[in-house]
Amino acid sequence: MDTSLIDLRSDTLTRPGPRMLRAMAAADYGDDCYGENTSVRELEEHCMEVFGKQAAVFMPTGTMSNQVALKSLVGRGQEVLCDSDYHINFFEASPSSDLGGAAINSVRTPDGFLTPGIAEDALGRRARWSPVYAETRLVWMENTINGRGGRVYPLPLMQSVRAWCFQRDISVFLDGARILNAAVATGIAPRMWGQTNDAMSLCFAKGLGAPMGSVLMGTAEFISMARHYRKWYGGALHQSGPIAAAALWAVQYNVERLAEDHLNARMFASVLAESSLFVVDQPETNIVIFDVGQLNCSPDQYVQLAAEAGVKVLVWRHSEIRAVFSLTVSGSDALVAARRLVRVAETAGRRRQPELASSAVG
Ligand SMILES: *Cc1c(COP(=O)(O)O)cnc(C)c1O
Repeated sequence: MDTSLIDLRSDTLTRPGPRMLRAMAAADYGDDCYGENTSVRELEEHCMEVFGKQAAVFMPTGTMSNQVALKSLVGRGQEVLCDSDYHINFFEASPSSDLGGAAINSVRTPDGFLTPGIAEDALGRRARWSPVYAETRLVWMENTINGRGGRVYPLPLMQSVRAWCFQRDISVFLDGARILNAAVATGIAPRMWGQTNDAMSLCFAKGLGAPMGSVLMGTAEFISMARHYRKWYGGALHQSGPIAAAALWAVQYNVERLAEDHLNARMFASVLAESSLFVVDQPETNIVIFDVGQLNCSPDQYVQLAAEAGVKVLVWRHSEIRAVFSLTVSGSDALVAARRLVRVAETAGRRRQPELASSAVG
């Protein structure tokens, strides 16, 4: 039996293949701080073209894209509205307030989608002229939604949120770390998603398989502010040609294959679901969340036992476990991993139900 380790913790855990490495080796070594790196410029122009945006700037990480966007679009003490599960709140609440100086108004939405109705409920009842309230400058969207198992935020809903914001002079930002997963899953072109917002980001280091990097896109005015704050935050890189070349290769050649990751996630989820030992969310893209709360072991113990059985996964929240599919996980890896995880669950067994025990007495 094949006992090689299958790592499903994240789609950031990829390695460049030979063709990406060749593109990196051929990259330019000009200094991007002087605007003289042709590989970086080529990447930025390609992204502008793909998403139909006026301007773009290469960033070292998705987190810095988020922080620079927030700093550029929201002043100190002004407010951004988001769902509480979005990366900007869930992982970045501290830098958003400390570096960004922004007030985060995070709401817990049923599906991870802000709707005009939810935004109206969160903001609309306030008299915007009142000095009591924070001034809401920005509505933040995320697609796909990492904290909700890679769910796709439907395009018409995003369009309706943008229209609602436009009427109120509120900007819209899209954290599109995995927006190309949404584009591939729905068959809706990146350009359409580009029209749902004033500014947006894309990560190259997730399912696209580049070693690092992200891009911010928007109006020329926004991008010139973003370049300014990128420098402040220490993210203006000098000879970043090789990483930009890897990112360009990824966004040219690794997009259509995201459909394989989605298929592998669905196959994996259906094997887990068949065992009926887990509660499994059917994945829309490349992330599977499954619940081990019924098992006779703690979530941490389950993850430990899974690692010993050759599958790395991680505890997401409470008793939810996350598994992510990317180009380093083949279809047969996905099936082998699912079978190993079922076996671990069978070994742990089901937790005895205290309710059943007491009702048996009564
Ligand atoms: C991964 C991720 C980020 C952060 O990207 P890093 O490159 O890891 O800093 C931001 N937003 C979302 C939705 C992400 O999934």
